[in-house]
Amino acid sequence: MSELGTESRPLRVAIVGSGPSGYYSAEALFKADPVVRVDMFDRLPTPFGLVRGGVAPDHAKIKNVIKVYERIASDDRCGFLGNVNVGHDVSVETLRRYYDAVLFTCGAETDRRLGIPGEDLPGSHTATEFVGWYNAHPDYRDRTFDLSCEVAVIIGQGNVAMDVCRILAKTVDELKETDIARHALDALAGSKVREIHMVGRRGPAQAKFTPPEIKEFGDLEACDPVVDPADLELNPESAAELEMPENKQNKANYAVLREYADRPAPTKPRRFVSRFLEGPVEIQGDGRVQRIVLGKNRLAGEPGNQWAEATGETVTQDCGLVFRSIGYRGVALPGVPFDEKRGVFPNRDGRILRGEDPIPGLYCAGWIKRGPSGVIGTNKPDAAATVEALLADIGSLEPCPEPDTDALREELRGHGVRVVSFADWRKIDAAEIARGESAGKPREKFPTVAEMLAVLGEG
Ligand code: NAP
Repeated sequence: MSELGTESRPLRVAIVGSGPSGYYSAEALFKADPVVRVDMFDRLPTPFGLVRGGVAPDHAKIKNVIKVYERIASDDRCGFLGNVNVGHDVSVETLRRYYDAVLFTCGAETDRRLGIPGEDLPGSHTATEFVGWYNAHPDYRDRTFDLSCEVAVIIGQGNVAMDVCRILAKTVDELKETDIARHALDALAGSKVREIHMVGRRGPAQAKFTPPEIKEFGDLEACDPVVDPADLELNPESAAELEMPENKQNKANYAVLREYADRPAPTKPRRFVSRFLEGPVEIQGDGRVQRIVLGKNRLAGEPGNQWAEATGETVTQDCGLVFRSIGYRGVALPGVPFDEKRGVFPNRDGRILRGEDPIPGLYCAGWIKRGPSGVIGTNKPDAAATVEALLADIGSLEPCPEPDTDALREELRGHGVRVVSFADWRKIDAAEIARGESAGKPREKFPTVAEMLAVLGEG
């Protein structure tokens, strides 16, 4: 009989990834009956995943959720091992020596590909690169974006596309008191981008963004929203779709787009143009992006399940920048099965599968479990469901041979890994807040790991 989950032998869970799903998983474990000890791993010295590195700097309220994560992190049962790259600094096999279960909440770190000619021309970027760059994510500190062009085209109409468009549309005055990276603010100050085209392959009734996000474009300092009234003519299926109770947000989006289409001609220096029923066919240019060829689409299928079908007609849009914002994708991790098609860890109720069989002790939650969908709060019930599965398995889990975090820390130290604790993170946090003060910013993030470690007295 296993004694896991008792005072004498707490259940030890490694959570890989300290974003929302990681913290909601820890919270669900702490709320449950068994005596449990959680260690959360992150490859960066900083916690909070996409809330720090993904949420747009001008959406400060969304980041308030960090207070909830700090409360969870301050639980005595919660450890943080930052600056530890699982799969690289420590293998999954090694983790299993120290933990009875490993729960992956490592999100979706890369992007889907369009698979069209010219996708990799200089000037064609993923939304992830731009978002990481303006949020001071160390992976993207050194990216450069040529903001000397007048027209930028954003492919995709989700909320990430909205963030990218809004950051391009806003003035420095609108951004300077946010936690945007200094290098990004400096570059955006010299931006010549005047037209921002957000292109959707389907129609206005199917756009994935949400009403508060599209509404924000109605009241920007230097940018007018532009919608061609002809684009708002709906086929009968789309009209029916907007009346479906589950499509309230789409209906509200449509009302905002209608209001934009009815506005007088734009007068502000920048324009945010929403375009519909156009799919990317080819990105062209002599050595770098100069234009994009878009194929005109029509919708096919039943209301609620319509897809884009090419008509064969194309239009060409001159531009100097393309951002591909068509959804994120999970990354494979050595020692864990990966579903290449969906970009997730194959799983049933959060139990990671090899073929049809669950691998005892391996679990996942969040975007690496279900794909990149939903808002931050969606991850709470999702994490709770995985934890429920894990706890249901407790009787059959093989107790790990070395239930000792200090021994793991020692092993990592031996491999030259500087493990960052939550107390260390608090020092980095305080230093960032202090750096931001003189500029009136909530914080000035350190854009490199070396600068973060320097705060801790190490290079
Ligand atoms: P998303 O919401 O899934 O949007 C992806 C967009 O890309 C859709 O417009 C999709 O069109 C389009 N697309 C996909 N494949 C395409 C292709 N081959 N060619 C052309 N267009 C293509 O993804 P996301 O914007 O990356 O957002 C991810 C999640 O994070 C979402 O749940 C989002 O709500 C959330 N998020 C929320 C906030 C916020 O709350 N403020 C901010 C950022 C992100 P189809 O609809 O036709 O597939």
